[in-house]
Amino acid sequence: VNPNLRRTKPIILIVDDTVENLRVLSTALSNQGYDVRGVVNGQMALRAAQAEPPHLILLDIRMPGMDGYDVCRQLKQSEHTQDIPVVFLSALGDSLDKVQAFAVGGVDYITKPFQLDEVLVRVKNHLAIRAAQDAVRDLNQTLEQQVQERTFELAQTNQALRQEIEDRKRTEEALRQSEARYRLMADNISDLVSLHHKDGQFIYVSPSYQRLLGYSTDELIGKSLYALIHPEDTSQVQVHVNTGLTQIDLVQASYRIRHAAGHYLWVETLARPIINPCQSAEQFQAVSRDITRRVRAEAQLRHQALYDDLTQLPNRTLFMDRVNYALQKGQPGHAFAVLLIDLDRFKLVNDSLGHHSGDHLLISVANLLRQCLRPVDTLARWGGDEFSLLLPDLDDITDAIDVAITIQNQLSQAISLDEHTVVVSASIGLVWSAAHYHSATEILRDADIAMYRAKGQGRDRYEIFDPEMHREILHRLNLEHELRQSIEHQQLQVYFQPLINLKTGEIVGFESLSRWCHPDHGMISPETFIAIAEETGLIVAIGEWVLWETCRQLKQWQEQFPALRLLASINVASRQLQQSSFVTTIDEVLNATGITADCLQLEITESALIEDTDYTSQVLASLRQRQVRLSLDDFGTGYSSLSYLQRFPVNSLKIDKSFVGRVQPSLNSQEEAMGIIRAIVGLAQAMNLTVVPEGIETYHQFTVLRQIGCQVGQGYYFSRPLPADDITTHLRQGWRFQVHQPKNLGN
Ligand code: C2E
Ligand code: MG
Ligand code: MG
Repeated sequence: VNPNLRRTKPIILIVDDTVENLRVLSTALSNQGYDVRGVVNGQMALRAAQAEPPHLILLDIRMPGMDGYDVCRQLKQSEHTQDIPVVFLSALGDSLDKVQAFAVGGVDYITKPFQLDEVLVRVKNHLAIRAAQDAVRDLNQTLEQQVQERTFELAQTNQALRQEIEDRKRTEEALRQSEARYRLMADNISDLVSLHHKDGQFIYVSPSYQRLLGYSTDELIGKSLYALIHPEDTSQVQVHVNTGLTQIDLVQASYRIRHAAGHYLWVETLARPIINPCQSAEQFQAVSRDITRRVRAEAQLRHQALYDDLTQLPNRTLFMDRVNYALQKGQPGHAFAVLLIDLDRFKLVNDSLGHHSGDHLLISVANLLRQCLRPVDTLARWGGDEFSLLLPDLDDITDAIDVAITIQNQLSQAISLDEHTVVVSASIGLVWSAAHYHSATEILRDADIAMYRAKGQGRDRYEIFDPEMHREILHRLNLEHELRQSIEHQQLQVYFQPLINLKTGEIVGFESLSRWCHPDHGMISPETFIAIAEETGLIVAIGEWVLWETCRQLKQWQEQFPALRLLASINVASRQLQQSSFVTTIDEVLNATGITADCLQLEITESALIEDTDYTSQVLASLRQRQVRLSLDDFGTGYSSLSYLQRFPVNSLKIDKSFVGRVQPSLNSQEEAMGIIRAIVGLAQAMNLTVVPEGIETYHQFTVLRQIGCQVGQGYYFSRPLPADDITTHLRQGWRFQVHQPKNLGN
């Protein structure tokens, strides 16, 4: 914008080399109120225009030096002066080149001499045009600036919008990703995730429902959760969920849920109410986990804790529980019985046919027993080969006895095991519920006592417990205690009973028989205490002691009476034979006492031989190798006597005194007994065995047995068992028995 325009007076520059012209024009224009400047040549005009650009230039064409055209051309070339309107002045008659005047940038021309009015009008017009041009230019500039400002504003708004769009896009992407993550989780989680309306309707289900339960999402949405729950569990779950919803609390429940195929799975569910703005819960979400395997494993563990693996019968723990329960109910009308059933000689089957057959037998017996029961009865595996039976709600003890008899009949059936067939029997102890019982333990203790009584009475029978049995047991326990002490206090003694050569009457040796000199009860018979010692294992200590005592004593007698060649015969219990140290002990004793092995005879009963056949025969073989003599004691009272004679390397047989006792002329059974003895002797001779009858009490028995062919004998007829000192006295006196006269003249 030209600042001069703002001035009130427009500036007009007159360029003319004719001073008169300058004066006339200046005066006229000044009078019109213009600010007039005048110069006389082109150089000055250019300088003046540069210094302060005028609003209009009146420019003479013909001037010395630089003419008007050149001045105008130069004005138009300068940025500063190019917009100034130039009006040419030309003298009349000058050949005015109008075309050139306009070509160099002029806007008009005036010819001299001047018509002043015309000059003024033209000046005024050009100034007006110039002013209008400036105004238009100014307006344009303002407009352009406004446009620029608006454009800038728009660009800023645009930028802001673009930023916002960018931000939104980013948020949306983040949302999309997080949703995708959650979907991925929900899709792949093995747990069942669901959203429910508070009445149980499914609103959302995770795809795991399809995988785990076989239902598609469509099938479930809108359906009630409770429709899938096992009828027995529904109300429990409903109560839980409703409590959770009202109390706005997390709930946990385990229940069965139906698979599309119809079966049920166990699940454990955690349900969480969803709270709406009104602080109430209209929905709940649930996360459920399949716990079927865990539940099954727990059930199996429970089963294993209470049931026997082999027979699937209740075990001891469960049985005791039931008996205790029966005991608590114990009112009139609720009498009950407990039976303890022990298989006879089960060990024999186990040892000879193997454990597999043993197991098989137990299963078969369990099945046979099951058939004798009412639904309310409890049959249990008590342990090993023992079964226990609880018969509740009985009227009378005869009902229980009937069951015991039924069981015995049932068991008498042959049972086939793989290739073998066996017949079993059982010894049964029966206890009738009585007021004085306080615990199942007491009842079972008494059933055990009665069962042992049944075994003692010859097996395959039942015994009803009575308190007398209990007293006997206590007595035995007491005896056992005292027997232990008697060993410590050396109250045991060895007595010796001579073995006689029946042909010559000479003493060939002695059988050692132990005696218990009880400080209060006097002499206690081995018949009483040996059985207890065997049961408790005390027999091992007693037996070893007898061995030492006997061999020491024998050595003494052998040295005192070298002519006699005496022999010691010692009873050995099966428990001793089973001892792995037995043979070593024998070696030690022989070594220490200096007795030769062939002077030692061990008496073994048949029952010892059947216990563990393989091991026993090894032990006996090594004893025979050492020249120790072996004698089969109580022969004839056992089971299958003859087979043992072949299997075991014995030197002699002792015929049991029960046979010898029947050799009496007054008895009808004498012939039968003699027949048996004859048969035994015949057999023994064939096998080169010595036969030794024991319990010879009469001259008749002595002569008969000698006649039959027995070489050696033993019995009160010759001598009772005596203490060592008495024997020594007799031997000193030349002890010998007359064999040809009915009276024992020996001493
Ligand atoms: P056993 O080995 O058959 O011993 C013979 C038993 O018959 C002895 O009884 C003896 O006193 C008795 N006796 C001998 N002659 C006659 C007679 O003419 N008439 C009658 N009625 N009896 C006669 P005892 O000493 O009471 O021993 C009983 C059983 O105890 C023995 O029978 C034996 O099996 C066992 N025994 C004794 N001492 C021991 C021992 O130290 N160790 C072992 N393991 N058992 C022993
Ligand atoms: Mg004996
Ligand atoms: Mg005997």
